[in-house]
Amino acid sequence: MKFNKNQINRYSRQIILKKIGAAGQKKLLKSKVLVVGAGGLGSPVAIYLAALGIGTIGIVDKDKVEISNISRQIIFNTNDINKKKSSTAISKLKKINPNINLKSFDTKLTTLNINKIVKFYDVIVDGSDNFRTRFLINDYCLKNKKILVSGAISRFDGQVMTFNFSKKKSPCLKCFVPKAPVDLDVDNCEYEGVIGTLAGIVGSIQANEVVKEILNIGLSLCGYILIIDALKLSFRKVKLNKRSDCFCNDK
Ligand SMILES: [Zn+2]
Repeated sequence: MKFNKNQINRYSRQIILKKIGAAGQKKLLKSKVLVVGAGGLGSPVAIYLAALGIGTIGIVDKDKVEISNISRQIIFNTNDINKKKSSTAISKLKKINPNINLKSFDTKLTTLNINKIVKFYDVIVDGSDNFRTRFLINDYCLKNKKILVSGAISRFDGQVMTFNFSKKKSPCLKCFVPKAPVDLDVDNCEYEGVIGTLAGIVGSIQANEVVKEILNIGLSLCGYILIIDALKLSFRKVKLNKRSDCFCNDK
């Protein structure tokens, strides 16, 4: 693959970085990342991944834009209310970067469709708002050795986890959440509230983790959980060990 002049200019500030360079940028352009949920987290994640040159991006979401989304789902504006999230988000990304491959999936991930949708992608970003989807993605990525960058936000608190299932020692989401909540479909943001800026903080960190995992640079977050308190402005990296009684030991 050879860069054209437009690409050299577009990505010049990254190509100049020693840890990325032309080879790294080409690797990003060859990468395929799926963003599950075009919500508070999916918005900044997708915007950054498109802008920095991930070559293929898919977005899965079955919802329509609602007015209560706009305070944190920055890929949408007031004119988008009632439009389909996935295709609307993709049309925004096209304006940011017209030279990458973009695909929208106007559906909810289920056990029936997950393989068909996800198998094509190298890295999965979980920005979903319920445990049913989170566990489904976790189990699929574990089984198929995909890289999973998971984020969660509620009130003023955020979390980021990276699971690189090609590494034997990688824990999984169920090592951290061994007991499923009673209602798998509950959306915490709806009941507990969330500050809009936190979606930007956590989503940006997730996008940054995607780049690090693809390029294998820096210190991987795999094996840790990043816990963010936006009020204290504290970022704590806590070791997340593989639980001996977790189902991920059998995989
Ligand atoms: Zn596990």
